[in-house]
Amino acid sequence: MLRQYELVERVLSYDPDADEAALNRAYVYTVQKHGTQKRASGDPYFSHPVEVAGLMTDLKLDVPTIITALLHDTVEDTLATIEDIEANFGADVARLVDGVTKLSKIEQMAENERAAENLRKFLLAMSEDIRVLLVKLADRLHNMRTLHFIKSPDKRQRIARETMDIYAPLAERVGMYEYMREMQLLAFEQLEPEAYATITNRLVELRSQDGGQVDAIALKIKQALAEAGLHVEVSGREKHPYSIWKKMAERHVSFEQVTDIMAFRVICESEADCYSAMGVLHTTWQFLPGKFKDYISTPKSNGYKSLHTSLMYENSMRVEVQIRTRAMHMTNEFGLAAHWAYKQGDRPDGAVGWLRDLIEIVDASHDADELLEHTRMAIYQDRIFAFTPKGALFQLPKGATPVDFAFAVHTDLGAQAVGAKINGRHMPLRTQLANGDVVEIIKRKNAEPQLSWLGYVVTGKARAAIRRAVRLKERAEIAEIGSKLFEEIATRVPARIGKKARHDAVERLGLMDEEDLMFAIGAAKLTDREVMEALVPGCTAEFEDDADWTRREHAISIRGLTPGVGFHLAECCHPVPGDRIVGLRKKGEAVEVHAIGCFELANGIDADWLDLSWGKRSQGAVGRLRVTLYDRPGTLAEMAGIFAQNHVNVKRLDQVETDHPFTTYEIDNEVQDLAHLTRVLSALRASDAVAQAERI
Ligand code: MN
Repeated sequence: MLRQYELVERVLSYDPDADEAALNRAYVYTVQKHGTQKRASGDPYFSHPVEVAGLMTDLKLDVPTIITALLHDTVEDTLATIEDIEANFGADVARLVDGVTKLSKIEQMAENERAAENLRKFLLAMSEDIRVLLVKLADRLHNMRTLHFIKSPDKRQRIARETMDIYAPLAERVGMYEYMREMQLLAFEQLEPEAYATITNRLVELRSQDGGQVDAIALKIKQALAEAGLHVEVSGREKHPYSIWKKMAERHVSFEQVTDIMAFRVICESEADCYSAMGVLHTTWQFLPGKFKDYISTPKSNGYKSLHTSLMYENSMRVEVQIRTRAMHMTNEFGLAAHWAYKQGDRPDGAVGWLRDLIEIVDASHDADELLEHTRMAIYQDRIFAFTPKGALFQLPKGATPVDFAFAVHTDLGAQAVGAKINGRHMPLRTQLANGDVVEIIKRKNAEPQLSWLGYVVTGKARAAIRRAVRLKERAEIAEIGSKLFEEIATRVPARIGKKARHDAVERLGLMDEEDLMFAIGAAKLTDREVMEALVPGCTAEFEDDADWTRREHAISIRGLTPGVGFHLAECCHPVPGDRIVGLRKKGEAVEVHAIGCFELANGIDADWLDLSWGKRSQGAVGRLRVTLYDRPGTLAEMAGIFAQNHVNVKRLDQVETDHPFTTYEIDNEVQDLAHLTRVLSALRASDAVAQAERI
């Protein structure tokens, strides 16, 4: 058993700032609380939590995890309470211990209830904090190591079965292969004692015949690679009895027919070296073509990375070789824990989501057997895990892209994404992520979400954020048009309009802010007159209802009218200077000026026709356009830009139709004359943003 100072020194060796006093207090606490309790082995009970804490130090986990390991059985098996633990060790540790305690309760439930309940609590706890699961797995591993001390064969069977069915797969799923293998081996020994004994004996026999074959082959591999200039570490081992037994069962073969009993591991200095090493091995020995697997370019679902190949050694013996870097090896053996080590305060909240989903399935299911079957098979099949470069974990649905990933990390990151590096390589944003991918989002400060992303994102979060951003952007564009209109309106009120007047106007109109005001103007939600009244209350009282309109027309002169006769430009056809025009004079009314082609003229109105032409002054004629834009970000801004370049004053902008992928606007523009309007129309038609533009 680890002594108190040994445990503390282990933690200090990887975390020099560790809270030594807290560790010491926790050690003393567990020793005192467990007191004279004994394990089945006859050892004092507290040796168990101390060993579990020792396992956690192997993974270099943080101080709260080590303390949790020390205290993990105190609430369950002693008089200690969660409140007491919180008072002594803080809320964080109390929460973790509570999580592990909840997990332990399932072991006391009735057999048939247990499977589902078991799993559910397990998952609930894990979804709160991955460290709870790590402590629980270490707890189970230590209990398996000491399983043989338990006298009741039924109890041993039950624990072994549970380990094989639930804990070993869970260890595998979070990538803790070392734990998984040891758990499987110990459970196998318990569940299939005869098979275990036979295989173990055969392995011993084989070893005595060959006399250190494993070491000899490892040396040969190392020499071959050294000659090629590669610095590697090679280790060899016999496969463990459980995996040999599994192969025998899967292939329905005898022990003698399982040829690949030895496995070798080559640790290289770089990824490139891994491929070089494989090339050297394949030219030195004959290899089995179907057996080659590249889990570096296509990692396994839990992030496992390695090259696998099988060689024919001396033409008769098949040996399996795994080639990987040191970093890959750490991740492969200790999985997610390797990512979490040292990540205090950097909680991978992303790991939570899939568990929540699973809990929903668990809650909805009533048949414990079916549930267990379902969970064993399908826990993670529709999910992928991806990491940020710093190692934070995010879960996403299958088919997720770097855009989904970016929005999962942070809405701003999603909004500013312009590219992605997946496992260090530049890849398109539409690339589907694979499990274990390390995704680095390349961002640019003023970048904006693209409507086209909606074509491939799969998460609701990304979808909603993109839609929202596109809407906001359109809103900003309309507000920009509104502020241009506003400048012109402001010149018409009898006061200089400054910040305060704008602020007061916003309040009088019951709007949120200035941007809101500009949007309301741009979207024609307010008339010019309403805006003027809000700026300078009472300033339009002297005008008639159409005073605004009259003022504007004063800038236009028409030839052919009797001096003093009023006129207005017809709103059905919006004539602009350059159009051929006629006047309609009805009794007691101002002359209506129509374009000659106006459909109203064809209706045979009872009025005198006047032959008119345009005078010199032609400011303020309004041409009405109907423009259909492609429904994507930036098109509205582009249109506004075309108006600005052509010195067109936009008077009104109405969105009249949205029919994806198009949006149609009606726009009233102040233009000088027909030539001006025609220039604007051709500029619009030349733009990529515009699908159609016509005068109406
Ligand atoms: Mn325990």
